[in-house]
Amino acid sequence: MLSRKQLQRYSRQIMLPQIGEAGQEKLGAARVLIVGLGGLGSPAALYLAAAGIGELHLVDGDKVEISNLQRQVLYRTNHRDKDKAQVAAQQLTAANPEIRIHAHCRMADEGWLTDLLSKQSFDLVLDCTDNLNIRHTINRVCRTQKVPVVMASVRGFSGQLVSFDFRAEDSPCYACLFPPAAEQSDLPEAENCSTVGVIGPALGMMGSAQALEAIKLIAGLPVSSLNKLQLFEAGSLEWRALALASNSTCPVCG
Ligand SMILES: [Zn+2]
Repeated sequence: MLSRKQLQRYSRQIMLPQIGEAGQEKLGAARVLIVGLGGLGSPAALYLAAAGIGELHLVDGDKVEISNLQRQVLYRTNHRDKDKAQVAAQQLTAANPEIRIHAHCRMADEGWLTDLLSKQSFDLVLDCTDNLNIRHTINRVCRTQKVPVVMASVRGFSGQLVSFDFRAEDSPCYACLFPPAAEQSDLPEAENCSTVGVIGPALGMMGSAQALEAIKLIAGLPVSSLNKLQLFEAGSLEWRALALASNSTCPVCG
């Protein structure tokens, strides 16, 4: 049962037939992990906190730098040198004090992620990182732990979004699409947002899209990026979708 305060706070989404009180209760009961509180994680976390996701876990080992502020909309100039996960938790709590927020000021690695996802049941992981090795790690751990994942990335003016529901035995995975070895030879690890230019609002679009897909997945609505690579071009404002299938030679799920 939703409280009077919850009915008031979330009234504009509860009045949507796609959400309703039942959908709001599902959002309130959900536990979501957001890996990376940068240009994607900022809008994604803001929208998920605002929407009333019951428990958010925020993972980031970085501190706020002035050069982050062009796109990482959770942070202010006076947050310089502070832990991103800690500041993000404060900002989100100010936006919505009704939800539980846990800040993890560290980098996610395979052992730590496996431990976290096996000890508590998570409904969803949002991959908001800008590093291919961590992305492949998140893919492997989520698949093993059977936790759905929504991934996004942006380079320059080009965005990618894809989701996998690993509760389904026959789900494809990120490595079906981009095998780890091939990807690493194309794009060295060092090539992330710190070395490649990126336009801020494109990160806003893709991070918001991740929050949207998360809400849809938790509320039981169709998820348009499920097993589909959604490509967004900020230059032309055009979206394209490529359907994915499991790859029998995939090193992770084949
Ligand atoms: Zn695979």
